[in-house]
Parts: sequence; structure tokens; C-alpha cells
Amino acid sequence: MSKEKTSEYYRKIGLKCGLEIHKRLNTKKLFCDCSTNMCGQRTGSIKRVLNMSVGELGETDEVAKKEVEKQKIFEYVCFEKETCLVDIDEEPPHTINKDALDIVLDLCLKFDCHIPDYIHIMRKTVLDGSNTSGFQRTALVGINGKINPFKDKTKKITIDSVCIEEESAQIEKESAGKRTYLLNRLGIPLTEITTDAFFSTPEELKEIALHIGMILNSTERVKRGIGTIRQDVNISIAGGNRVELKGVQDVRKMDKVVDLEIQRQQSLIKIRGKLKNSKIFFGDIFDAKNFFSASDSKIFKGKESYGIFIKKFSNQFSQNLNEVKTLGNEVAKIACVGTNALGIIHTDENLDKYKLRNEFEAIRKHFGLDENDLVACVVTDKANAAKVFAQLKARILMLQKEIPKETRAVLQNCDSVYMRPIAGAKRMYPETDVPKMPISKQYLKERKKNLFKTHDQKKEFYIQKLKLTEELANQIINLKMNMIFDEVQKNSSLKNIATETAKSILSYAGIIEKMKNDLGIKTTAQCFMECFDALQNNIITKQGSGIFLMEKLKNPDAETEKIITEYNIEKIDKTKLIQLITEVQKKSKTQNIKEIIRSIESSYKNQIDKKELIDLLVKSKKCL
Ligand SMILES: [Zn+2]
Repeated sequence: MSKEKTSEYYRKIGLKCGLEIHKRLNTKKLFCDCSTNMCGQRTGSIKRVLNMSVGELGETDEVAKKEVEKQKIFEYVCFEKETCLVDIDEEPPHTINKDALDIVLDLCLKFDCHIPDYIHIMRKTVLDGSNTSGFQRTALVGINGKINPFKDKTKKITIDSVCIEEESAQIEKESAGKRTYLLNRLGIPLTEITTDAFFSTPEELKEIALHIGMILNSTERVKRGIGTIRQDVNISIAGGNRVELKGVQDVRKMDKVVDLEIQRQQSLIKIRGKLKNSKIFFGDIFDAKNFFSASDSKIFKGKESYGIFIKKFSNQFSQNLNEVKTLGNEVAKIACVGTNALGIIHTDENLDKYKLRNEFEAIRKHFGLDENDLVACVVTDKANAAKVFAQLKARILMLQKEIPKETRAVLQNCDSVYMRPIAGAKRMYPETDVPKMPISKQYLKERKKNLFKTHDQKKEFYIQKLKLTEELANQIINLKMNMIFDEVQKNSSLKNIATETAKSILSYAGIIEKMKNDLGIKTTAQCFMECFDALQNNIITKQGSGIFLMEKLKNPDAETEKIITEYNIEKIDKTKLIQLITEVQKKSKTQNIKEIIRSIESSYKNQIDKKELIDLLVKSKKCL
């Protein structure tokens, strides 16, 4: 694992990494006025067939051709307030959303990118139906930026490009001839940040990804939470090839993802060395059903199945490719792509596990094979079996030649699975429906003056200037309370006790999370300040303050007095409290402090200061 391997080790194996990060922006959609909240009701759906001939795509784009050949009907589900005529391609796109563009411009300024004088919207062909128009709109906003994510500030990473683009529609379900997409996601603005390919250890790569994520969140205008960020990694090692790993879910596991891919490429290089000069002989596909007719295996018994043998290939499939899988696992997955087969069973596996040892021995005997020859079988029909074994052969022959350049999907366990060959650079066409957008130097100068501070910069300010502890500073940022804290801190009478303010605000983080209000920071902060004032002036208690704040956030114009009366949260003063204690003592004939507290709390929970109550009880006990 990475912890034991040194930077020198990774340099020696020629590791090169690159990152591509997509993050959703928290604005309206990019080319229309639809909401991007993804909580609207379904309003219906429309059906389309992709109308594009292979000829239009030119001769070279194999990936594109494959997609078109898989002719399908596409169903698009529409959502209230989240789908309009632009989204179903019945109306030209509106001008680019200015808020979204501003966020991306700010990021470019932060990265010190070169920003062109005009933003040109381009179309990128998309043939899988995930875009109703058949293309995705994208625009380059900045190039050649820099970040320094490390403690050593002289070490810089180059940001190749920063783009703004539209999110695709999400697949909901798929059947033989039809695929259903949800249109609420289509058109949500994304920023795409691509780094240069550089040397780094897996651990450093993780740090870089976290740093970019931190900067994105620091704009306070990106979407947060699951699914709002997509991280892809490109990896190659000397003698290997460029592999794109798509969709690293958890950035904290990025080092593990990289390490498993390094191991996979290293194993493939070794396997190539061994197989390079050998001639691999494949037998013909045979009908295997009869061999399993009396089998105890539920997988095969009575089912249509086919097999193939490979001479002198035993013990190849059982080799480990990395910590989590064998060559056999990998080849079987690839062989089954695009077929209905669920997997392949072969003689390099523990056949006793499947109760299939005798059956495979019978096959070997029947064809005059011995233990050096590998036999593989699959449960499926003839046409699918032909495809499975053609793909299996192609992959095995590839093992002799090169480490395949391909796109792979990252799995939960940090390993990856084959998706498709790497697509050639997508051809782009100018989007003629949206005019180019001029970006003046003056405009950039003004934006730069008010550029956002990163969370790291803020944290430093909290600790150095406001004297918060590091733990508090971290909490304020991690619980996303920093905007409210900044605003309250700026305006509050509690100015000189930042620590108190921070603690108070943090104690209401749960309420803010639950309320998901859209009031804006200024109003939210105002509600907080009114709550703090009421607390300080002894009008409400800590227990009642949560209710107060929640009601205030629901209706910021509501008068303090009104909320207090309506929700019965006015603080009970000392005199009344003493009176209450006496009443309870008389009524229940008890001196037990706990019992008295319980009794008073049952009726006045949100109105008493518990500490005050305890103090009074303790004092009265001493007097007895
Ligand atoms: Zn729309």
C-alpha cells in the first residue's frame, strides 16, 4: 500500500496522474430558467428516437458508431418547474446563466488562469440519449492556471482548463429497446476542472483532489452532498498505458484506487512478458448442455450453455491482477459486456465450490485435453455465447500485445471495471443559437477585487485573528456555518467574543440543516442575532431558543413578542421559579431535587433555565 511505498518508488515506475473534476453549481439551469433543486413532481414524459446516421459522424469515431448502432427509443421524464421547452429541445437555449458563469470566472481568477476575451459556447456530440438535443453544450472559460495544494508552496500543479457545461439527463431504467432518462438533471450547470498530467504519489493526488474540492466549496455557490461532484483520474505507468478511471466516489479513497490500478498495470506488463512469444490456441465453441445434464450445479443444470478451451493456458486466469481480483475475474467481466451472460466459469477456479469438478473433467476427457488446458463455459444462448467468447479471445490476444488504453468505472471496493475504449477527443462545433459572450478586462478586475476567500484562508483568519480554537474553526466550516458566522460576527454586539458566538451558532447547526431555508445569508444572520438578543436580555431560555430560531427562520418578519407568546417560551424569572418550587414541594411532599426538577420540567421545559433551577434548589436545601 501507498504508506509503505516511497515517493522514489512511484517515480521509478513512471507514475503519471491527471485529474478531471466535475462539480454542480448551485444556480438555475445553464440555458433556461428552470430550477436545479431536483425535488419537483413528475409531470409526464415524451419519447424520442435518436436521428443520426453513421455517415454524419465521419469514418473514425468507433465509439460514436457503436452508440448509433444500438438504436433505441428514449423516454424523457419531465418535472414541475425543472423542465421546459429548452430541456426537450423544442426551444433554442437562452443566453448563458450569468450567475453560473460568474462562479466559474471566479474559480479561474482564483487559479490565476488565462481568461479569453469571449466565451464561445460549443456543442459536443452525445449519442447515448442523455441529452435531448444530441449534444452537450460546453465552453472554455480559463486555461493554464495554477494551484499549490501542498505545504511546500513552491510545488505547483497546473490547471489545464476550466470549463462550464451542462449536466446530462440521468438514466432511470433500461430495457432491451428503451432507455428512460430524467430531465430534472439535464442542463444543471457544471464546472469541469482538468489538471495537467503530472507525477505524484497516490497520497499527494488525494491531497490535490481534496484541495480543489475545498476551493470549489469555498465559492459557497456550488451544490453540496452526494452526487454533486464527479472525480475522474487518469493514470499511466512506464510500459503501461493511459487509463481513465471514472467516478471516484469518495475522494478519501483516491489513493487506494490509484494503487489498485498501478498493481493491475504492473501485473499486465508481467503477463505480457510471459505470453509475448507464445502461440495461443483456442478450440471451437461447443454446445456444453449435455455435459451438465446430470449436474448438481444450479447454475448449469438444464440450461443452454456453451464452452471453449484454450490449449496450454491453465493457471493464467488464476493469477492475481491486484489485491482484489484475478486475471480470470477481469477477462470474464469484459467478455460478458453487452451480452446477457452473468459470468464465465473456468477450470482455473475452485470448481468444487460450484459442484462442477466432474463435469469439467468430462469435457476435458471428451476433447482429449489435459490439466494444462483451460476450459471455460457460459450459460446463455448461442448468439450471446458467440459474442462472449469473441470478446474473451480478443482480450486474451490483447494480453500479448499491449496494456489496453481504456475507460474504466471505479467500483465501491476501489477497484475498477472495463467500460469502453478511450473515446477520441470529441469534435466540437460552435453553438449557433447562443451568441458569444464578451468578458471585459474591467469586469474581471472588479470580480477580482471581491474574490471569495478559500476555506483554508478563512480558517486561518478565525484562528489567528478571532482566536477561535482550531477545532471550533474546523467545525464552523465543516458544518457549513461559516457564512452565517461571518455575518453575525460582523454585525453583532457580541463582537469581541467570537468564541461564544461560534459556539452558539454551532449549537443551531442542526436546525439550519433541517430547515434548508432560502432566506439568504443576511436574513438568516438577522434571525440569529435576534435570537441571541432575546437570550442575552433574558426573555427566552436556551431550551426555548431553538423553537424561537426555527419560527423566526420560517417567518423572519414575525415579532419577537408574538413568537414568544404563541409558543409559550417566555423565560420564567427567579421569583416565579421559587414560587413554583414551593408549590411542587408542598403538593408532592418531596425534597428530592431530581423529582422536583422533573415535575417542573414536565410543564415548563422551554421556559426555565435549568442551571438557575438547580442552583436555587441546592441553595434552599442548604437552608433547611
Ligand atoms: Zn428548462
